[in-house]
Parts: sequence; C-alpha cells; structure tokens
Amino acid sequence: MTPDEFRRYGREVIDWIADYYENVESLPVLSQVAPGDIRAALPSDPPEHGEPFEAVLRDLDDVLLPGITHWQHPSFFGFFPANASGPAILGDLLASGLGVQGMLWATSPSATELETHVLDWFATLLDLPSTFRSSGSGGGVIQHSASDAALVALIAALHRVSGGRTEREGVGSGRYAVYTSEQTHSSVEKACRVAGLGADALRKIPVDPATLAVQPTLLREAIETDVRRGVTPALVVASIGATGTGAIDPVGELADIAHQHGAWLHVDAAWAGVAAVAPEFRWINDGVGRADSYCTNPHKWLLTNFDCDAFWVADRAALVGALSILPEYLRNAATESGAVIDYRDWHVPLGRRFRALKLWAVIRWYGAEGLREHVRGHVALAQEFASWVAADDRFELLAPHPLALVTFRLRAGDEATRALMERVNSSGELYLTHTVVDGKVALRMAIGGTLTESRHVQAAWQLLSSP
Ligand code: PLP
Repeated sequence: MTPDEFRRYGREVIDWIADYYENVESLPVLSQVAPGDIRAALPSDPPEHGEPFEAVLRDLDDVLLPGITHWQHPSFFGFFPANASGPAILGDLLASGLGVQGMLWATSPSATELETHVLDWFATLLDLPSTFRSSGSGGGVIQHSASDAALVALIAALHRVSGGRTEREGVGSGRYAVYTSEQTHSSVEKACRVAGLGADALRKIPVDPATLAVQPTLLREAIETDVRRGVTPALVVASIGATGTGAIDPVGELADIAHQHGAWLHVDAAWAGVAAVAPEFRWINDGVGRADSYCTNPHKWLLTNFDCDAFWVADRAALVGALSILPEYLRNAATESGAVIDYRDWHVPLGRRFRALKLWAVIRWYGAEGLREHVRGHVALAQEFASWVAADDRFELLAPHPLALVTFRLRAGDEATRALMERVNSSGELYLTHTVVDGKVALRMAIGGTLTESRHVQAAWQLLSSP
C-alpha cells in the first residue's frame, strides 16, 4: 500500500468508525448469529491475488458486523464495560502507525519513558500511595490484562518468598499457597495453574455474608494452618470490586496478615480502581499503601480501548528479579548502565506494543475533570437504577452497590431470574449477564458505556420490569 493509498483508505476507515459510533445504538446489542455462521460466509481459501481494500470494508459490513456483539452500544450492561473513546482509538492508531516494539528502552526510548511517565500521572490521578511511583523503589507498567497482572504478581511473590529459588528449582508440589476470596475473579486460579502451582494451591476464603468481602480472621486461620503443615504462603489477592458483586475487601487488614507471614499482597481493582479519579470514591483504596502491587484496567471503565491494564509494584526489584533474563542478543549500553527501565523485565512476553500512547491521549483529551465526570455519571445512573429495583417488591438487591454495578434478582427464584435475562437479551435491546451470590442466580447491571445515558438505563428498567 502506497502512502497515497493509505491516506485514501485511512480516511475511509476513520469514516467507517465514526459512522459506526453514530449508528451503533440502532444495532441489536447481542449478536444473533449461530455458531459457524460467520465462517460459513468466508471463502475457504485465502486469495491468490491481492484485493482492493474496499472488499475488506464490504465484508466487514456484510459478513462480520452481524457477528459482532456491540460492546460500545449504550445498552451494553454485561460483564464489565470495555469502553472505548475517540482519543484512545486515535492513540492506538498512532501506535500501530509507528509500529515500534518497546521491549527495551533502547528499542524506542519514548515508548518506555512515556509509559513510566503516564503511569506516574495515572497514579497521581487515582491518588495512589507514593510507594507505587517510579521516583521511589516502585513503578508502573502497562500489562495486557488484569489476568497478566495477577500472574506477574504471583511470579514476583514466589521470587521474593523463596529468595530467588523458584527461578532455578521451580515451585515443587504443594510447597506454596495463594489466598483469595471466594468472590475473586478466576484469573487468580489461572495464575496458579500457569505458574505451575496448580489450582489446589489456591485457598478460597469465605466472605462475610453482608459485605461479600473476605473475612480476615478466616484468612489468618487458613495461612496458619498452611504454615503448621510446612506450606509457604506466597500471595494474597485482595479484590477492590470483585467481578460478581463488586465487593471490596479490607485491603489493609489483609496486607498486615500477608506480611506477618512473608506473603505478597496484590490488589485486583481491575474494574473499580479507576473510580478513584473522583475524590469521593477514593475510600475504595483504603489500605492500598500497605499493598505490594495494585492493578486497574483503563480498558474497562476509563475510556481506553482494550488492552490496557495499569499495574504498579512497590518494589520493582522483586518483579525484575523474577522476570529478567538477559541473552547476548539483547545486551546494549543503556541496559548495562542500569540507568533505564527495560519493560521486557516487567511482564511475561519479550515484545510489547506502544500502549501508553492511547492512555496518554485519553488523559490529555479528557483531563482529570473529564475523567471524574465520566465515572460520576455512571455511578449516579447505577444508584438510580438500584433505587428502582429496591422499590419493586418483585425484585431484591443482593449486594452493596456503591459504584456502577447493581446485582439483583427476581424474588421468584433462579429459574424466573434466568428466564428474565434470556428474554431481555434475546430482544436485542440490551445485554446483561449473571452471577451466583450465596447460591442464588443474580443479574448484574454494569453501567459504564461511553455512550450510555439516563434514557438507556430507564429503557433497560422498563424492559426488565415489564412482565
Ligand atoms: N479481575 C476482575 C475483578 C475482573 O472483573 C476481571 C474481568 O472482568 C479480571 C480480573 C480479568 O480482567 P482481564 O480481562 O483484564 O484479564
């Protein structure tokens, strides 16, 4: 593609995206295709001769769009949001255009230094403790996802608790344990599997029935039982905004218990953490100053296209110690000087995209003020929605809802609740997903779309509450 062709098709693509955002509301939120429909519409063999880009755009409309579930639809209330924005899309496009691979400082100093700087900015925006800033012993890095953050936190924790032995000897069988609430996201169990500890190394600590937060006394008991048996506690994961219910664990207390036994405390605030851009929600981060690592996803609720997980550590030496390998072909003067960050040592892969560009673009476009308004708007809508649920005798709320997730059900029971979800989702008018709380099927109304307004939440309640 010549620069002129790129210019022409590039304009068409930008127009396509702008039209998509203008019209997304008129599309069914949930894709209505059956398994295999999309592949059946694609040619079985790749083209022998190059095709004009118009053909790609045509198939995007005709073949692929029906198989898209519209995450950017204002009535998408499923899972947690993965909201996007113009500045993030353009930042991502620029990163693709530059096509740099920022594995080392030397392979693109701007990619590394902007990332360090933007993560410091972001820590300031969230008022995170100084322990996480790059000016001290900590620092931030963009991970692909919160699941990667949990995995690298576990690898760093194993490094620290074993004095570096796990890198050489592996983790053995039944030697180390990981602790988290029974409400925590499945990524923690996956991290145990990937790190070779196995799912049996994970202790799921029961939650308080009222707050759905982990019970510190039960964590302490589980750790003490392990220590008596000769098992080493490696990692405790606290949730700020657990996936099913939005529960917030008592991070400070959990950190104290973890540290008394030499374990690492990681905070998974994948969805909720970004709410701290607004001072009135900063209480969610109480106790985070005692954590060893913390992650939150701008790619969920802060206008930054997937993928962008912000991950901070208080002691970068543990992370780098766990992950650094320096083969001859990566040696260079800047690395040897010790004066630079090489982000290849801060995550699992070697190569990395220039993801800081999109976060930088978002922060600059919206400013702290715009980001606060974004989060506040969704929280206000969720509070209104929760008040309608509470006022309707047929429904009950199942969890505290201080932010923008409302977990609720029909009092008529599991079957009726599931049937309601299927009815509203198949209408194409909105999309929401479910969880199980205390053995009961519950619906999750996660409000956070960039385009979501009060009228969309009202229409959702209309649909949910009409027989
Ligand atoms: N942690 C929590 C609390 C989540 O809600 C999720 C996803 O919804 C994850 C982790 C996993 O996120 P990611 O897709 O970034 O790995």
